[in-house]
Amino acid sequence: METVKKTQTVLITGSTSGIGFGIARAFAKAGYNIIFNGLEKEGPDIAAVVAKEFNVGTMYSPANMLKPDEIAAMVTEGESKFGSIEVLINDAGIQFVGPIEDFPNDKWDAIIGINLSSSFHTSKAVWKGMKNKKFGRIINIASAHGLVASEFKSAYVAAKHGLVGLTKVLALEGAEFGITANSICPGYVKTPLVDKQIEDQAKAHNISKEKVVSDIMLAPQAIKEFVDIESVAALALYLAGNDARMITGAALSIDGGWTAH
Ligand code: NAD
Repeated sequence: METVKKTQTVLITGSTSGIGFGIARAFAKAGYNIIFNGLEKEGPDIAAVVAKEFNVGTMYSPANMLKPDEIAAMVTEGESKFGSIEVLINDAGIQFVGPIEDFPNDKWDAIIGINLSSSFHTSKAVWKGMKNKKFGRIINIASAHGLVASEFKSAYVAAKHGLVGLTKVLALEGAEFGITANSICPGYVKTPLVDKQIEDQAKAHNISKEKVVSDIMLAPQAIKEFVDIESVAALALYLAGNDARMITGAALSIDGGWTAH
């Protein structure tokens, strides 16, 4: 876990589960040091296992994405451990589904805080280091819901549209410093976040989980399959590399044709 190599370092929020964890594994396989973050209590173990498996440096921070002070401290700790952070991937996110008139205020605040504002705070915290190095890659895990809406997801859709907008501003401000910023907009990916939605929707509509998947979730996609975590990770890895240096300010769909409608 403590092996520090002279290589690039990636900070991935929400990387102790789901898509973020898959991205972390792909970057570790490619030789990056990984700064893990997320609320899962297994965080330290996950960091240790990945360090051993791929022979890279890792660190785990339990920073809460609702707390700007903890975000800043995580970045400072990561920079002092690894020297610099070249890649920032904002992945932490939560979901809540409900009609606008019953949508709980605290859920709205939490979703905007974790899915949008935390990316402002992380980007702000890594900016100076990237600017000094004249190199940086910021990759925001938005969603198809950053580009189109679905009913009952007011906070999530607002946060993800906001994230796509924030990404464009970072791209414009970062250009002269060698910093690129892009959003990845996946369709449905089978992760704990989606498993919970399948259960909730099955109860809400009183239909089977299979029907939720076929008639609700995958209905808007042209290709009726979940997106693989590995495919999202491969796109992130590409965006972090040199071949992607001219891609900035983009919102890249990986959604089986959902937003082609
Ligand atoms: P997940 O629930 O498996 O993982 C979410 C991660 O965020 C976890 O590690 C969790 O601990 C972390 N997190 C949540 N609140 C946090 C907080 N306050 N502070 C720090 N960490 C926190 O979910 P996932 O499906 O892998 O989603 C990852 C990202 O991808 C989210 O931003 C989500 O909106 C986005 N996304 C998911 C899908 C999908 O279908 N699964 C589709 C498009 C976009």
